Amino acid sequence: MDFTVTESQTLIRQSVKDFAEKHIRPYVMEWDEKQHFPVDLFHEMGKAGLMGVLVPEEYGGAALGYHEYITAIVEVARVCGSVGLSMAAHNSLCTGHLLQFGNNEQKKKWLPKLATGEWIGAWGLTEANTGSDARRMKCVARKEGNHWVINGAKNWITHGISGNIAVVIARTGELLDSHGITAFAVERGTPGFKAGKKENKLGMRASETAEMIFEDCRVPEENILGKVGEGFIQAMKVLDGGRISIAALSIGIAKGAYDAALAYSKQREQFGKPISTFQAIAFKLADMATEIEAAELLTHLAAHMKNHGEKMTKEGAFAKYYASEVAVKTATEAVQIFGGYGYTKDFPVEKFYRDSKLCTIGEGTSEIQKLVIAREVLNN
Ligand SMILES: Cc1cc2nc3c(=O)[nH]c(=O)nc-3n(C[C@H](O)[C@H](O)[C@H](O)COP(=O)(O)OP(=O)(O)OC[C@H]3O[C@@H](n4cnc5c(N)ncnc54)[C@H](O)[C@@H]3O)c2cc1C
Repeated sequence: MDFTVTESQTLIRQSVKDFAEKHIRPYVMEWDEKQHFPVDLFHEMGKAGLMGVLVPEEYGGAALGYHEYITAIVEVARVCGSVGLSMAAHNSLCTGHLLQFGNNEQKKKWLPKLATGEWIGAWGLTEANTGSDARRMKCVARKEGNHWVINGAKNWITHGISGNIAVVIARTGELLDSHGITAFAVERGTPGFKAGKKENKLGMRASETAEMIFEDCRVPEENILGKVGEGFIQAMKVLDGGRISIAALSIGIAKGAYDAALAYSKQREQFGKPISTFQAIAFKLADMATEIEAAELLTHLAAHMKNHGEKMTKEGAFAKYYASEVAVKTATEAVQIFGGYGYTKDFPVEKFYRDSKLCTIGEGTSEIQKLVIAREVLNN
């Protein structure tokens, strides 16, 4: 693996940083407090190439690789975790699923809208009673002539209300049969497809999370992604790549919290000197810096393998597991360094603290990452 930061990564870092300072930072707390999902921002992000980072140019995307994708998400999440989460879900889950498993017609139909940010994408695997145990899903699709009729609900879906199109993973065979599950693309406005409850969350409040409900929702046969029965295997592959994006999101949040804590520690004085001169504080900063660097290296390792088309289930889980735990630890220590001020909304670290916790839960909890890693190491 080459550790040199490429010219394209440097350019992306600077341009995304400038974009986030102008279009995101001034509104972060307002969106968080109102739990406002800023749809227009995502249209702007589309114009800047941030909604189809991995999509080839022929489908309107930026045609970049995973290293650049990580760089972009880190710079967005450094300013706002919610926007980083929505960007990651749009690019890796909905768009990523269509890119990997859509046929040429499907890609031509939907990817240009998603990659340019004209449309926002959602991806529904989780249900109220099946999160980690997704294979036990109850949402069913039944064949009727040239159509499939979907009944059930998907919960905790990023862009479950505002998504213009959703990739929906539904049961088409026997319960617990991993080949009895199929992926469908369902456009907003399809009769029988409606949004349900919007979640009121601890963090990531500007990223919309909601239920999607399907009541006799008729979807044409041509909206099946890949073949009938391949949906669960496809979803697991999509999540392998998605974990790189959640690791990047975690690194961005950790860096945002670390930047704030570092600056504050040099300026805040107690006992007549900056608190950074106390070893207890300096060692916290040393741990944060080391762990962020390690998380970034693990994430770029998974990215390197993904770029080269190698199987990276273990490395993706390493990156997601480690980086998300680092995000939570770093944000917690940042609040500690800020003392009482860290516990208020006048400083940014309380938000990083709240946002960071999603990273150890979404796209597979830390416990599930350990199951994946254990399975991989025990089988080798
Ligand atoms: C903000 C947000 C956005 C989301 N966006 C999406 C989305 O866009 N699309 C989507 O499909 N889903 C989405 N999700 C759902 C998310 O992927 C699930 O919440 C996650 O997979 C965990 O499932 P669960 O919440 O049902 O927890 P559960 O699976 O019920 O887990 C509860 C606890 O039990 C532990 N546990 C479960 N099984 C085991 C086991 N075998 N061994 C050890 N421990 C275990 C878990 O680690 C956890 O600590 C989102 C969730 C959130 C909070």
